[in-house]
Amino acid sequence: MNNESNSNELEPLNRAERESHEVIDNGPSGFASQLKGFWVTFRTMFKKVNTVQYPEVKEATAPRFHGRHQLNRHPDGLEKCIGCELCAWACPADAIYVEGADNSEGERFSPGERYGKVYQINYLRCVFCGLCIEACPTRALTMTNEYELADDQRQKLIFEKEDLLAPLRAGMLLPPHPMYPDADDQTYYRGEVPGASPLQENIAEPNK
Ligand code: SF4
Ligand code: SF4
Repeated sequence: MNNESNSNELEPLNRAERESHEVIDNGPSGFASQLKGFWVTFRTMFKKVNTVQYPEVKEATAPRFHGRHQLNRHPDGLEKCIGCELCAWACPADAIYVEGADNSEGERFSPGERYGKVYQINYLRCVFCGLCIEACPTRALTMTNEYELADDQRQKLIFEKEDLLAPLRAGMLLPPHPMYPDADDQTYYRGEVPGASPLQENIAEPNK
């Protein structure tokens, strides 16, 4: 008995719901509105296309596009990274791993006390937000416009320090080598070192 009365109570409600979902069909749209739709299609056929034949054709990115990272050098070739790990702490995706180490006079990679001995960026995690480059106190870490980072092996998307270091430009010496004569870390950070001096090369020679 109870079941019967319940079903009777529910029936009007279900019917009302069905009615509220009915589609209102006003019949075929008028000839003028169909013509308007076709006109949009026709006009679009003559517009300049945005598609390019990538990878044969590559469009330039916006100047401040966030692409692959780069670890920069001072003008004499010493590395700007001091292994402070601030970039790793700033990263919301936990994509950066840094291990710092002490420089010595016999084996110097950066001005000052420390350098980045191990530096990895995991591009399987990176979301290219740029927070790491904002956190870097020495402008060692910046982002390039390079965006071709796809690979078919996950391991290859963990970039090591060698993959990220900027290439040696004219006037630079490959570290380790001593600092510029009479320069200290402040001189380097103020950008007052013009390039490698012959003295740095001569002292570095015995270590090669
Ligand atoms: S760009 Fe963002 S996600 Fe990528 S390493 Fe830097 S902080 Fe992390
Ligand atoms: S890249 Fe910059 S923030 Fe990161 S460890 Fe090197 S100096 Fe520190």
